[in-house]
Amino acid sequence: MVKTIELLYIVREGAECFSRLKDDSKLHLAFIEKLHQILDEHSFAVYHFNASEQYIFPFPESYNTLESMGAKKYEKDIIEALSVEKPESLVIKEFTVVPYMAGRWCSGFILIRSKLKDDIRLTIAHLCQLWVQQKDKIELEHDNARLASELGRSLHNFSVVRSIAHTVSKAQDLKHLLSLILKVAITTVNASRGFIMLENENSRALELKVAQGLPNKEAERQINSGLLKAANIPLGEGIQGRVMETREPVLITKVFAEDGEVYGSEGGSFSLMCVPLMMHNNAFGVIYLTNNDGDEDFDNEDLNVLSILAAHASAVLDQSRLYALATTDELTGLYTRRYYSQRIGDEFKRCVRYKRHLSMIVADIDFFKKVNDKYGHAAGDHVLKNVAKILKKIVRSDVDTAVRFGGEEFVLLMPETHLQGAYIAAERLRKSVEEEIMVYDDNVIPITVSVGVSSYPENGSAIEELFSHSDRALYESKANGRNRSTSYPPL
Ligand code: GH3
Ligand code: MG
Ligand code: MG
Repeated sequence: MVKTIELLYIVREGAECFSRLKDDSKLHLAFIEKLHQILDEHSFAVYHFNASEQYIFPFPESYNTLESMGAKKYEKDIIEALSVEKPESLVIKEFTVVPYMAGRWCSGFILIRSKLKDDIRLTIAHLCQLWVQQKDKIELEHDNARLASELGRSLHNFSVVRSIAHTVSKAQDLKHLLSLILKVAITTVNASRGFIMLENENSRALELKVAQGLPNKEAERQINSGLLKAANIPLGEGIQGRVMETREPVLITKVFAEDGEVYGSEGGSFSLMCVPLMMHNNAFGVIYLTNNDGDEDFDNEDLNVLSILAAHASAVLDQSRLYALATTDELTGLYTRRYYSQRIGDEFKRCVRYKRHLSMIVADIDFFKKVNDKYGHAAGDHVLKNVAKILKKIVRSDVDTAVRFGGEEFVLLMPETHLQGAYIAAERLRKSVEEEIMVYDDNVIPITVSVGVSSYPENGSAIEELFSHSDRALYESKANGRNRSTSYPPL
């Protein structure tokens, strides 16, 4: 039998020992060890009690259960007795139940197989109290630490995201802008490397625009100087393709690098994130980041931050004049079809609302395939550039929109222009192209275009049909011998 003086020592040591422990499971063990100093190993069980669900379960560290101690039949009585506010210890037959508390309510109990002398019962109750206090303290410290780190992280993320607008305003050109965005992205989520890909509408592929931190420095240099095209990805393929299609960010942990992957990890398992760059609900590119084997995995918070950052980056692209660069065709400097698709909706709405005219000119180079076949692809490119240059001369720079619509097809959107005016512009374009002397490699390449024109509201129908009507007019120009302009409706 333990003497009273020993009990006092046990409590004092317990208090000291518990207060040093910062880990919940170590604290459990220490608590049960203390109980062992007072009680026989097989004479007690430690239980957790859930008052609201009227449910009890033994601690994993407790060797015994109600069953093993032959007390299962008292379960209901115990639950009932402990369900009151501030329950006292109780005795049922040969068992003593010592509750421990969380505030005013019982959160568990120790079941002991014997009627305890008061001093032992009080000692156990006292130990329970010390244990629960320390438990609460550890939990609080964990909560605080977690809060502090989350708060720190959010603040950090917030300031980084805010700084992107500032950083990005220093960009000289699209490439520079993208590399600044990438740098902020990599730093923010602590990635090891990453790249940005943008959609090229003509080749229907995602093109690597900038990369940072690649293990292969030569590959990185080539990507950043626009030399490496091999790593482009056809639309719809790979993780990047999927992100473009679904417009949903992706986070994958435990990825294994394939050998020789140009932008992959240095081997081993890593995690990756890929988020879309979006403009008016269209994805036009992706940011793709990975880390190293052994680094802490990216988590959902990282993915959130990266998504917010991508949204900011897209917004900056949208607002700045650099947006034009992102939506400009590299070869001709004209707007891309993507930009056109966004523009046309706005123009339509404006025209209908304010009852304004809107004309559309569609021009297609005649027998362009033959130009490529006869003089080579580079000559073809030269011709495209020249036709684009002529087109730019025709447009009123602040109102009209000139678009490279496809390979050798161009669209000119002319707000506030009626059919007659548009037809005149179309003819001017056609004649200018015909008269232009295009020389490549000492060859004079004769070029003509066929043109189709349509106008709202003269086409007398829904504005959405503007394109199909001008296309139909273009088809007529082709069918009637090419190098001519046709309008719908006919003038
Ligand atoms: P049509 O008078 O009926 O328009 O005949 P076409 O030969 O101009 O028309 P088609 O549509 O058959 O051929 C278009 C060609 O344009 C095929 C394609 O190789 C070429 N092309 C498309 N994009 C480019 C480009 O960026 N550069 C070069 N050099 N050629 C291109
Ligand atoms: Mg053609
Ligand atoms: Mg064509």
